[in-house]
This record gives sequence, structure tokens and C-alpha cells, in this order.
Amino acid sequence: MTETTPVRSTLSAVRTTGSRQVRPATEGWSQQKDESGRPLLQFASPKRGKPPVHLADLTPEQRVEKVKELGMPGFRAKQLEKHYFTHFTSDAAEMTDLPAAGRDELVAGLLPPLLTEVRRLETDRGDTIKFLWKLHDGALVESVLMRYTGRITLCVSSQAGCGMNCPFCATGQAGLTRNMSAAEIIEQVVRANRLIADGGLGDPRKVGHEGERVTNIVFMGMGEPLANYARVMQAVRVMVDKQHGIGMSARGITVSTVGLVPAIQKLTKEDIPVTFALSLHAPDDQLRDELIPVNSRWKVDEALDAAKAYFDETGRRVSIEYALIKDMNDHAWRADLLAEKLNARGRGWVHVNPIPLNPTPGSIWTSSEPEVQDEFVRRLNEAGIPTTLRDTRGKEIDGACGQLVATEDDQRAADTVPVD
Ligand code: SF4
Repeated sequence: MTETTPVRSTLSAVRTTGSRQVRPATEGWSQQKDESGRPLLQFASPKRGKPPVHLADLTPEQRVEKVKELGMPGFRAKQLEKHYFTHFTSDAAEMTDLPAAGRDELVAGLLPPLLTEVRRLETDRGDTIKFLWKLHDGALVESVLMRYTGRITLCVSSQAGCGMNCPFCATGQAGLTRNMSAAEIIEQVVRANRLIADGGLGDPRKVGHEGERVTNIVFMGMGEPLANYARVMQAVRVMVDKQHGIGMSARGITVSTVGLVPAIQKLTKEDIPVTFALSLHAPDDQLRDELIPVNSRWKVDEALDAAKAYFDETGRRVSIEYALIKDMNDHAWRADLLAEKLNARGRGWVHVNPIPLNPTPGSIWTSSEPEVQDEFVRRLNEAGIPTTLRDTRGKEIDGACGQLVATEDDQRAADTVPVD
């Protein structure tokens, strides 16, 4: 949270910076364009070798069937679920309650290795850890684990790369490599839980008491989750399943999107009240068309209508994510327009999270001045929209939203690591 700024200096800051309009543009790379010259949007996953089918891809009934196919009685499925979702292990040697004969085959058939750890970066004295994972086909994805007071949040990837082509986003630059499977998404959670159980998150003298695990999931790593809808929803079902899955609270799971309206409508009809976040970043189509290319399909008002319908159906307050970028989208009039559009759809249904960017000298994608950020937040709050500047933990290790991308250095490190 930034400090409160006296009104006079705030207003002068707004006057001096508020009139400038910096337009979104890529820096150091070119957006791929479609035939009409617009930024290319990739909704379909390129065809690549599918990852092996895993317990977490299957429904409980399918798991029983698969266990029987492997020559074991169906109740062994429940034991495997317990090992994987509660004890966070895929190691047959640890599963001594399974008969030795056929155990290795059973585990190989239902818990095949999915993620190979390439590297791990820690910051915030070990309270934030970024993992770089290699998938079975060599694709690279990342997740970020963060300990806060009273909660542990994991930011997961849902796609290798991303097809939404946002000009500010490192992940979008390389386009969409492929959708991740439900089990590849879940495996990020299980591996994080294992690390926590082993005392690997934060100072082990202070933390790591028994039973601790990830309490919150945010789908804000690589990828647009709603472009990989079926697999993301299967992963969410496994996360919340108390009998056959991880057993988390749905409200601790945040599914975010840049505004794929038909998929938001579908999510509204699911019976899983996850927290829904819309990455809006601009309240006007003129700017948002350039900032978030998918806005050329579904406009600001359509995305906001879909978000409001989500609240109406689920009763869950919607989050609006808004990265504050200097002289691009941080103008006071945009705060007023955003408040107007949100209030026009009712009261008490929405919360705005402005996200301060990293200060990047010389780049057009740099952080707003603190006074401008404060003024933006103040205007929204004054208009009756609860607004809080978000914690941007993980920025030091490039783990903040839209910054997850495998670098050439990561790729070189990955090339030396054999897939499990
Ligand atoms: S900001 Fe999100 S939706 Fe846009 S390209 Fe990056 S990962 Fe994809």
C-alpha cells in the first residue's frame, strides 16, 4: 500500500501526467498479425503430443475403471488418491499399503511423471519461490508460491505460452505452445504442497507446522485459463473435491481472464463458486483494443456485463484487475469512467485491484507515479467502488502477472535436464 498524498500535490501530478497519452506498443519484439492486420489471437491449441493420462485427469469412476484395467481391485483407486492428493507423493516406494506385486505398474499407469523441475528461484527470504517446470514434450511453464500471513498462494500456469498476444506480456510473445492437461495443472499444486510439507517455504524455524498447504490458487501464471476451459475446470473440480481430490475451498481459487465472454458465461453456469477476476486494464474500448487484443472480439461493456452476471448467479464478488501503467491507462478520467461503468451495473458486486507495475526506466511500460496511483484509487473509492492496490510480491523474480516467460537462459537450463 502506498502512502497517502496531500491533495494539492496529487492534483498537480495528475495535471502534468494526466494529459499525456502513451499508446501501447511492443518493445523489442513484433506481434504476430492475422490477415486483416490485427494482432493474431490463438484460441485453439496447436496439435502436439498429449501428456500421459494421469489420475487427476480422470473422474473418480474412471479412476476405478483404470485400476481394474491394470489388474487391481477398484478400491485401490482410493488409496492412490490419498497418496497423491493428501500425502503429495507419486513414489511407489512410499505406498507400502499397496501390494508389492503390481504396485509399480499401478503407479506407472496412474501417476506418470508430468513435471520435471528445471530451476527454483527464491526471494523475500524464502517466502516466495518460482519454479520452472519442463513438461513431457519439453515445453516450459512456471508457477510461483507465496507465503503471506495466514495464507499460502500458488500462482499456476494453465497453458504453455499464451495465444492472447497482449503487447505488454512476456508470456504472449511466443504465442501458444499448447494447452496444459488438468493433471499438469494439479501437479503444480501437489509439488508445492510437498515442498511446504517438507518445510521448504520460508524460514523453517518459524514456519512449516504440520498440515500446512496451499490455501489459495490464482490462475495468473502462463496462459489464458478460459481458453483451456475444459481442462481448467477439471483441475478446479479436483482442487475442491473433498472426497476424491485436494479438498480446497472454492472461494480460495481465483480464475482470471482477459475477457473471453462466452467462457465467462459458461463459468457462471458451473456449480463451483470460484473467485472470478477480469483483467480489464482499461475502461474504454479505444485503449483496450490495443492493450488487450481480445477486446476486438468482446468489448469492455460485454466483458463487464458477463462479470456482473457471474456475481448475480454465484453471489461471489468479482475482482477487476487493473495494471497501472504510466500515462497509458492511469488517467484520473479513466478512474472516473471505470467507476461509472461499474456503478451503472449495481453496487457491492465488484472490487478493483490496481496493480503497480515495476518501474522500468526508458520503457513505455513503466509504473505510474505514486501520487497518480493514489489518485486513481481515491477516485474509485470515493465513487463507492472498494479498491485496494495489490501486493506485487514476486516481481523481483519476474513472477508477477504477465511476466512469466521462459527466457533463453531457462531454455538452456532445461536442455540439460532430462524429462523424468
Ligand atoms: S497478459 Fe495474460 S492473456 Fe495476455 S498474453 Fe499474457 S498471459 Fe496471455
